[in-house]
Amino acid sequence: TTFEELGLAEWAVKTCKELRMRKPRRVQSHCIPRILEGRHVLGIDETGSGKTAAFALPILQRLSEHPYGVFALVLTPTRELAYQLAEQFRALGSCLHLRLTVVVGGMDMLKQAKSLMSRPHIVIATPGRIKVLLEENPDIPPVFSRIKFLVLDEADRLLDVGFQEELKFLFQCLPENRQNLFFSATTTSNLQKLHERYQDKLYVYEA
Ligand code: AMP
Repeated sequence: TTFEELGLAEWAVKTCKELRMRKPRRVQSHCIPRILEGRHVLGIDETGSGKTAAFALPILQRLSEHPYGVFALVLTPTRELAYQLAEQFRALGSCLHLRLTVVVGGMDMLKQAKSLMSRPHIVIATPGRIKVLLEENPDIPPVFSRIKFLVLDEADRLLDVGFQEELKFLFQCLPENRQNLFFSATTTSNLQKLHERYQDKLYVYEA
């Protein structure tokens, strides 16, 4: 397959070429069309398999069609991963006028609150810090009330007990009719529970 055949727009295909992505990786061929169709997706494949572009490209394509308000919240367990995700989103979205904010621990909270209030298109965050910001700034939760995509990157780790409280809180701030995308390098019992919860509403790709 080619990126065109997955349903990606011309600008996205061109960007992939510029980034020397010659043809879609398997996780991309399977997940991109499903995400563009509007389905919830669970994608399991090893580290370095191209999972980030598998969700970033369809999100950016939808965003290019409806550039209003906060569009996607991408959660990841660590600061380093958040910056890596941001870098890939910026590269893949280089021809859109992308407003992207990274919200992680160790950075100025006031600046982060301000940047969230400016309604970025994409918010990439670690669960602990975004929870604190939402709790302490009553003006921020409304910003998240119309989000279209929630991504759990490293979903196996995020759905583990360590982040339970944060996720529960965050989910309350998000609209029900969002599209959920879960990506992970390993299968865990937490991810199996997703099958039970979503049943045929969830498209599962496992390498
Ligand atoms: P990821 O698994 O998302 O961390 O991606 C691993 C690396 O593979 C990143 O540096 C991407 O830029 C690169 N990559 C992703 N998709 C492709 C592709 N279709 N062709 C070549 N490289 C890719």
